[in-house]
Amino acid sequence: MELFDVYSLYDVTLTRGQGTRVWDDHGQEYLDFYAGHAVISVGHCHPDYVAAVTKQLNTIGFYSNSVVNPLQISLAHKLGKLSGLEDYSLFLVNSGAEANENAIKLASFHTGKDRIVAFRGSFHGRTSAAVAVTDNPKIVAPFNANQKVTFVDLNDIEAVKAAIAGGDVAGVIIEGIQGVGGIRLPEDGFLRELRRVTAESGVVLILDEVQSGCGRTGRYFAHQWAGIEPDIVTVAKGIANGFPIGGVLISPMFEATKGMLGSTFGGNYLAMSAAIAVCDIIEKEHLVARAAEVGDYLRASLPDSPKIREVRGRGLMVGIEFTEPIAELRKRLLFEKHVFTGVSGKNMIRLLAPLTTSKEDVDIFIKALEECL
Ligand SMILES: *Cc1c(COP(=O)(O)O)cnc(C)c1O
Repeated sequence: MELFDVYSLYDVTLTRGQGTRVWDDHGQEYLDFYAGHAVISVGHCHPDYVAAVTKQLNTIGFYSNSVVNPLQISLAHKLGKLSGLEDYSLFLVNSGAEANENAIKLASFHTGKDRIVAFRGSFHGRTSAAVAVTDNPKIVAPFNANQKVTFVDLNDIEAVKAAIAGGDVAGVIIEGIQGVGGIRLPEDGFLRELRRVTAESGVVLILDEVQSGCGRTGRYFAHQWAGIEPDIVTVAKGIANGFPIGGVLISPMFEATKGMLGSTFGGNYLAMSAAIAVCDIIEKEHLVARAAEVGDYLRASLPDSPKIREVRGRGLMVGIEFTEPIAELRKRLLFEKHVFTGVSGKNMIRLLAPLTTSKEDVDIFIKALEECL
């Protein structure tokens, strides 16, 4: 059997990772400023993380959600403490798309309505509802396309008001910072208005923090820069450093009824041990504050080049937009300078470095970038 060929691959085979570094099958070392798509938060193979998951695997690896699972309760407490959302409750799934899928479902259950407002440039995942609120026709199959979704421009509060005036809107879904769409930030004032408008009209506000959450922007959640409290927050990527898990953080206004949501693998012991270990490491090593500090240092260190049009982002979620397409630049960074980066569109390099990134790592990246420019 062969692999279903859907990914564009670079010709690199990784065999090992440690901290902010990965190694290929020729023993070559690379600096990882992409974190495998914002997933590696506490660094590759953090010893506390490896120890916790290994210990759990030797204790009990799996049972279904028909028995009490103290690890889920422990994770909920820790996430509440780290995020400040202590009175929210947690529903556990296995990916970001699935978290958004359940968030949309909850909004619809809660309001009895069936329309979702989403934003141009959004990415929320590839399952049915998540892809329907994603603004990319290329990945939306006809089966997913006939959902009731209204797309409006980011930061256009009047368009949001007009969209929810119809009275059929269950929820508004927005990324803390648009990742795939090119590190585009909702303005703080816009988020505050969005919070006010949705609360007034009984529309559920869903913050997708799958990419921007878990401390990467220098706050536990990116929307906390604006000081708002959403009705639902979704998390995944960075929350368990590579173990597949998604979470839906649900405000106290929602009432759970038995059987309304469910997942076979969601909340399993191994995933919980991984996510708990990440929370503990983030707390112990003050990684949220560190992401803010090292992110500021990174932005301040970027060269003044006529080739750079704009730098956007917060903390260690950074987009460098160039005046020209960057495919060649990225290839040179990867193969000559041994640095992993991400991209957004044709002109942007997207950096999603682990929260454990040091200023020395930043210096190495800056030097490589300058040489490539
Ligand atoms: C990656 C991503 C998702 C989807 O997560 P998966 O785990 O790939 O399903 C959803 N929302 C945002 C903002 C993302 O970046």
